[in-house]
Amino acid sequence: MENSAMPINWYPGHMAKTKRLLSDQIRKVDLILELCDARLPHSSRNPEINRLAGGKKRIVLLNKADLADPAETAKWLKVIRASGTDAFAINSTMLKTKEIIQLIQKSTKDAVDRALARGVRKTVKVMVLGVPNVGKSTLINALRGKGIARTGDRPGVTKSNQWIRISPYLELLDTPGMLWPRLDDQQAAKRLCYIGSVKDDVTDLYLLSLSLLEEMMETCPDRVMDRFHVNDPSLRGQELIDAVCRGRGWLLKGGECDYDRASRVILDEFRGGKLGRITLEKAPEQGKDVNEKPAGTGQNDEGEAAAPGRGSKSTEEVNP
Ligand code: GDP
Repeated sequence: MENSAMPINWYPGHMAKTKRLLSDQIRKVDLILELCDARLPHSSRNPEINRLAGGKKRIVLLNKADLADPAETAKWLKVIRASGTDAFAINSTMLKTKEIIQLIQKSTKDAVDRALARGVRKTVKVMVLGVPNVGKSTLINALRGKGIARTGDRPGVTKSNQWIRISPYLELLDTPGMLWPRLDDQQAAKRLCYIGSVKDDVTDLYLLSLSLLEEMMETCPDRVMDRFHVNDPSLRGQELIDAVCRGRGWLLKGGECDYDRASRVILDEFRGGKLGRITLEKAPEQGKDVNEKPAGTGQNDEGEAAAPGRGSKSTEEVNP
């Protein structure tokens, strides 16, 4: 599909204000949990986070790993870790909260120990950041658990930017930081539509579902052919969606293809994992992740020296 056929204008205004708000929030935390979608580990990350995050510590969480190809997820984790940023795969709907808390504690141990050496028992502050629909609220709610008090529930404490106390010395900002989807890259924008990060009503569903079908015919043709009863792996364009309609019996009274129905169901089934665990973006060669500095520079994005030992985790998945 020609990208020009489906222009996506996700973010017309308010960009500067959003960035300012995010910078303010980030300044208050010790650690950022950067959520991205394990099916699109490139497109669902926003490179601006590098600048916005300043020198803050960050853990990348490949969420919805239950919907992604585990072998690809493992490769992506390696690439991100090789660049000096901790990364783990999770499923926020079945979160092993304790393990995430341990990750946070491990990642912030240096700062806590430094404070302790000065006689201060530091409260670690954490925020969750990511593009829409990536699972930020689900993660926050899971970490919040039942019966955990908001620090802002005390009288006289402001209601906005409330902190949730996770453990005696760990607090989570209760509102996620919203990153905008990539604006510069129509391919990424289109893929973000597949996962519902950009609203369906700004795109043409027929073109979107056809584009998704075509991408899946490249990455996992067998899944498409099985699920939609298509026999010819060389089909593309309208011939492909026509074959899908006929395969699944999505036909109107005169026998014409019911494209409206096909478009909705193709997207729904992909989003719901009905075609199996699919990663649409292959991991680049080691050290080539455009969101990160190449491995071995010893520096993070802000030119700050990377802590020794970071990026050498052996755990592949926390709980996809
Ligand atoms: P937010 O916009 O980033 O806050 O995203 P939400 O937390 O509202 O999640 C968007 C949708 O993704 C919801 O339907 C969640 O149930 C679902 N979701 C979140 N995390 C996961 C996950 O790890 N796996 C799966 N399969 N679904 C998830």
